Amino acid sequence: MLQAIALAWLLLVIGDGVSTFCYHVPEHVLGRLHVQVHHAPRKNFRHYAVLSGKPVVMLDGILGALPYLLVAAVFWPLSGPGVLLGLAFGQFHVWWRHTTALGWQTPRAIAKLCGWLGITTPEQHWQHHCNSYTAYGDIFTFFDAPARLWLRQLRRWRLNRRRYFFAG
Ligand SMILES: [Zn+2]
Ligand SMILES: [Zn+2]
Repeated sequence: MLQAIALAWLLLVIGDGVSTFCYHVPEHVLGRLHVQVHHAPRKNFRHYAVLSGKPVVMLDGILGALPYLLVAAVFWPLSGPGVLLGLAFGQFHVWWRHTTALGWQTPRAIAKLCGWLGITTPEQHWQHHCNSYTAYGDIFTFFDAPARLWLRQLRRWRLNRRRYFFAG
């Protein structure tokens, strides 16, 4: 049981890390899909949290979830229940972190527990929807600081590349 929980936790940490650094942050600098889909103003809970039938919305969700599924495939021989637990919590968190769009508020005790565990609350995730320079780490808050450094670095590279082409 403990092993399954540890494995589920590891799956979510690696999945969120890879998703944040390899997809989410680069999408904000180099891409357009995620910003169009996930930072569209005044969209409802269903749009953000439920895979809608729209292909672009689905594609953003699938690309973001891909790292979790790859880790799940690697971890499967180690512990099936651990993998299922991790994926179930990951899916639950997708729904839960968008409940701000429904006007919900996280009870104080749960927000405190999340703070202690380093888990992103809906209120924290909503900050990212409002301001794409902040509150990275879909599931874990400790990815926020390194993700913002990565964001700044990518922007710098993009700017330098433009300058280089203008000078050339
Ligand atoms: Zn979101
Ligand atoms: Zn984003």
